[in-house]
Amino acid sequence: MSTTQSPIVYAPGIGPDRAALLAEEFGIRTIAQFMEHYPFRYVDKSQFHSIRSLHAHSGEVQIKGQITKINELGAPRQQRLVATFTDGEGFIELIWFKGAKWVKKSLKLNTPLVVYGKINDFNGKKSLPHPEIYAPTEVEVSAVEPVYSTTEKLTKRGLNSKGIARVMKEVLKKELGQFEETFSEAFRTKHQLISRTQALNWIHFPPSAQHLEAAKKRIKFEEFFFLQLTQQRNKLRQKTAIKGYTFKEVGQVFLNFYSNHLPFELTQAQKRVVKEIRGDVRTGAQMNRLVQGDVGSGKTIVALLAMLLAIDNGYQAALMAPTEILATQHYNGLKELCDPAGISVALLTGSAPAARRAEIHTGLKEGSLQILIGTHALIEPTVKFANLGLAVIDEQHRFGVAQRAKLWKKNEHPPHVLVMTATPIPRTLAMSVYGDLDISVIDELPPGRKPVKTLHLFDKNRLKLNGFMQREIAAGRQVYVVFPLIEESEKLDLKNLEVGYEQLLRDFPRPQYQIAVVHGRMSAAEKEGEMQRFAKGKANIMVATTVIEVGVNVPNASVMVIENAERFGLSQLHQLRGRVGRGSDESYCILVSSFKLSSDAKTRLETMVRTTDGFEIAEVDMQLRGPGDLMGTRQSGQLQFKLASLINDGPILNWTKEVVEQLLRDDAQLIHPDHQSIKSRWIELYKDQWGWNRIS
Ligand code: ADP
Ligand code: MG
Repeated sequence: MSTTQSPIVYAPGIGPDRAALLAEEFGIRTIAQFMEHYPFRYVDKSQFHSIRSLHAHSGEVQIKGQITKINELGAPRQQRLVATFTDGEGFIELIWFKGAKWVKKSLKLNTPLVVYGKINDFNGKKSLPHPEIYAPTEVEVSAVEPVYSTTEKLTKRGLNSKGIARVMKEVLKKELGQFEETFSEAFRTKHQLISRTQALNWIHFPPSAQHLEAAKKRIKFEEFFFLQLTQQRNKLRQKTAIKGYTFKEVGQVFLNFYSNHLPFELTQAQKRVVKEIRGDVRTGAQMNRLVQGDVGSGKTIVALLAMLLAIDNGYQAALMAPTEILATQHYNGLKELCDPAGISVALLTGSAPAARRAEIHTGLKEGSLQILIGTHALIEPTVKFANLGLAVIDEQHRFGVAQRAKLWKKNEHPPHVLVMTATPIPRTLAMSVYGDLDISVIDELPPGRKPVKTLHLFDKNRLKLNGFMQREIAAGRQVYVVFPLIEESEKLDLKNLEVGYEQLLRDFPRPQYQIAVVHGRMSAAEKEGEMQRFAKGKANIMVATTVIEVGVNVPNASVMVIENAERFGLSQLHQLRGRVGRGSDESYCILVSSFKLSSDAKTRLETMVRTTDGFEIAEVDMQLRGPGDLMGTRQSGQLQFKLASLINDGPILNWTKEVVEQLLRDDAQLIHPDHQSIKSRWIELYKDQWGWNRIS
């Protein structure tokens, strides 16, 4: 145990009370953890400002000059002290609202001083409220001062930002000598990294902005480094240690389908991804590939082609979807393609009757069934394949790693795994969360798609909206109206589905109009019935909650109306919009909201109106919600970095990834003496998550 692992109570100037508080307030228990309490910002006291150059947004400024006049103003109980300060060119007021008497005594007239504070601007009149005042000799030249987050309790115990800085300085002086370095000198020279000791010193007390940058770069690098190392090492291990099935040939099933039954020409992006998959499955290693593609980019056909490769090589394939509706749609769509080509497909969901289940089980075991599509029902222990060669998981973010693993266990060898995301996620996030997967991107939509026109409309323009819907329906199109999934609540004043439905029935009366409804509380059969009514064109309007978010495909539907759009997250809005624009008609997404919007809601709606690019939308979503929330709590732990940010540090992450790739190419076992310190730090960091056997 290095000394830095020793309890914080032993740090100079801490003691039992402060130690207990630090643990309570910030979870800081060791000296090392204390050192990782990085400043959240810095004040630059290396610069002096001239009063004339100041403006309302100058922020924190430092000025050299002197006080020429002191006045006490206001009624006795609301007294304030105002001092006039000049740098010889301009004047500014220093103001104290508290402690006037005491401050007045300490101020010296016509003596050189340095003042530091945050500009306040009141109707163009600038002042410095409660400035810090120094004698010019007290000012540390070129000092960038750290500002630490603290709490009321800590402040009461003398650990305000300045107090923390004082302790930090002592701790660094005393402890840094024994600090263990993670990266050897050779490694650091090669990658132009400063030492850990330097980085810690400079992150807290940077001599200059450049030193601070170097410190941040080193610390962020190290934070990304071990996550990348762990994931890439696992990936490598999977590739070398876990044997996968080898799909040697592209055979008759694939070729016949490709030349005679493919309903359209693949896009370049689809062709590229099929090639990448083909490249994986022929190697003898197990494929673990993530296909990222926007709504409507055509992931399904790519999955089907991959499944045909499995069949050509004598294996079965499975496609798992998160909801029954989506599984059913996949089944209907794929069956239409597979039947003419003589490929057998079946659907297995929770609501399949026992007799049908038995039939499927037999078909699977005998191998007469080639493709099985379904929900979670697929991973139940009773479902046994003769030889599952490929598992495709659609809309990945709803499945956990554990469920993925269960699919693997259906065989002696794990099947190849292809996961497809419902919504693109930012690249930095994909690299961090799915770093153990290979990633393919379908970044091209099939030709002839017109981008969906998106409008934002306030509630009060409902008549206009109704008129528009009537015209679209008269032209033979169909309309979705989606409500957020919220129980009726007077407080929230949200029009929930039921109220909305009744309103629509009045505005679009039978028999001229037909309205279908789907919501979460209906049985699968009821939902299916209503979906069919809409899909077959028997209903003009489909009123729904977000159950239709994924998968539904009705090309004749050209309008998506989203009620209370401010209530939806960005990725949900994007998913919903993806339900229209599937045919050749011009299509529309209309976001209806109340007039009052939070700034986040405004950003969401503006983003939707501005762009239809799912990758761009994902970036905005990550900025609004943070990486942890975007992925759900499951992964948020591993996405928490002390300093690095997946939003702002993409370039550093890319660089780290390349460095790790190179390291593993050169020395996958970390045997070289230069890499020993990396190995020991890795074990220290990941000993809880990864047993030694997984590392070596
Ligand atoms: P997603 O990527 O959202 O799962 P789908 O696979 O459901 O997208 O495809 C959306 C629609 O686009 C489907 O109707 C599909 O038949 C069609 N499609 C897919 N690829 C092409 C293509 N290359 N050319 C024309 N239409 C395509
Ligand atoms: Mg899909």
